[in-house]
Amino acid sequence: MRNLVLFGPPGAGKGTQSEFLVNHYNLVHLSTGDVFRYNIKSGTELGHLAQSYMDQGKLVPDEVTISMLKAEVEKHSEAEGFIFDGFPRTTAQAEALDAFLMSRGHSIESMLSLEVEESELKKRLLARSVTSGRADDADEAVIQNRINVYHAETAPVADFYKALGKFKSIDGLGSVEEITTRLVQAIG
Ligand code: AMP
Repeated sequence: MRNLVLFGPPGAGKGTQSEFLVNHYNLVHLSTGDVFRYNIKSGTELGHLAQSYMDQGKLVPDEVTISMLKAEVEKHSEAEGFIFDGFPRTTAQAEALDAFLMSRGHSIESMLSLEVEESELKKRLLARSVTSGRADDADEAVIQNRINVYHAETAPVADFYKALGKFKSIDGLGSVEEITTRLVQAIG
């Protein structure tokens, strides 16, 4: 099984790159943000809970996010592997993912971290809001909050994978194809 974590701040290109990688490696794309948005659209209790956090650019609590993630993994018992996009976003999530995969006899192969500077992230998110229809992409204060939360709570997750020798840094600036090529080289 090949399990990859695609990491990076909001707007780094995780979703865009996942589209190519899932086809290339025959993996299941698991984006926690997408699952939350689907639940909001479907009007579920989980969606209702997640929305208040997402609207403010805050993280949905770990307990809720971790149990949702486990349920999503369990839905794909035939999967050859996963690309985790937007998860783990806290060290507690990383530890829970590790323990969960280990209990199933699996592990994370590597964390691929897309590096993009802050001014570029803001430009990309505002541009994306036109087509994504996402309220959290259209509001500059919410974008700033998401970036701040990334630095405070999510960036430390890289240390977790560095300690395991699984962290790979990828330059996230350039054309979509250039970045894909860097990712494929890094995955090996
Ligand atoms: P994304 O689609 O990855 O940009 O995520 C959109 C929003 O969903 C985030 O700003 C959070 O509010 C929420 N979210 C997504 N993934 C997670 C996660 N792993 N932990 C907590 N909240 C999350």
